[in-house]
Amino acid sequence: MRQAHLIAPRTIEWRESGTPKPGPGEILVQIRAALTCGTDLKTYRRGHPKLRYGPFGHEASGDVIAIGKGVDRFAKGDAVMWVQTAPCGECEQCARGLENLCEHLFDDIALGAYGEELMLPAKVVRQNVYKKPEKLSYIEAAFLEPFACVVHGWNVLRRANARRPLPSDVTIIGAGTIGLLHLVYAVRAGVKTTVIARGAARSELARSLGARTIVDADDTHSVEALAGTASAVIECAGTQQTWTLATALARTGGRVLLFSGLPSDTAAAFDAGKIHYGETALLGAFHFMPADVREAYELLSRGGIDVKPLVSSVQKMDDVVDVFERLDRREGHKFALVPGSEDPQWV
Ligand SMILES: [Zn+2]
Ligand SMILES: [Zn+2]
Repeated sequence: MRQAHLIAPRTIEWRESGTPKPGPGEILVQIRAALTCGTDLKTYRRGHPKLRYGPFGHEASGDVIAIGKGVDRFAKGDAVMWVQTAPCGECEQCARGLENLCEHLFDDIALGAYGEELMLPAKVVRQNVYKKPEKLSYIEAAFLEPFACVVHGWNVLRRANARRPLPSDVTIIGAGTIGLLHLVYAVRAGVKTTVIARGAARSELARSLGARTIVDADDTHSVEALAGTASAVIECAGTQQTWTLATALARTGGRVLLFSGLPSDTAAAFDAGKIHYGETALLGAFHFMPADVREAYELLSRGGIDVKPLVSSVQKMDDVVDVFERLDRREGHKFALVPGSEDPQWV
């Protein structure tokens, strides 16, 4: 089987190996669609603290082509969607109910979405693989992973206010794929949404996806005018400035979800009065738990979550090198990659 490997920063190579046989609890899938992701682009540019170099890509969907001993929930020929990790269920973090912070989350991870076939580890098969409903395309089904991250973020937000879990309004900073997925979730949940977006194309997309108010990120006056207005703020732009801005935008008693990652040694400054007297809740969110994946799966399956407009274009799997060069040049946000030699199209 052929798989694209990231072997060093900005270096992707196709590697060929024999098709493996699934061990106990594992399943082998044929990839039908894969998606590029912001995390992949970060890894492509400078490596990743938690991910090794090697088989590349983690958002995908496909068909089961072989199953290991003991797998009874799936059969050959099933169309499936999954996420790349699953918690161990045995470590201290899992025991505390913090499965998204499992100490072994990245030990056995299904990397290699950019390829022909992929083995799904037993713990992933047990917890985080679902049958793809027919009405979802393979490309839409591959959104399970980023959408599970977004659902997890909303569950963190909800838990921060036991009396009113769902905020009445939310301001989202950043209109990349993740910011827009938060928007899609908010619109479906009936939460009034303001999006701070950069550029006409992203603003237009946010508007078409249901944002009530859109503010240009470069219009300092309009951004400043939002200070102290939001019941909830979700930061998805990934800079120190936007982390600080997120707190400034929250109203008294507001919640701030710092969703994007910054390098670990980064310090961000916040107004202490705002945190203390204004009782602003600063919340981090990382990855997802199996319950978030299930919720994301159910939301996607039920319909009303339109992820199609988030795909910049559909490309051939073989063009993965070119696709990452384009992402690196900021041409497009999220590409779908599909196998086959003919014209790539929505599958
Ligand atoms: Zn992802
Ligand atoms: Zn664990």
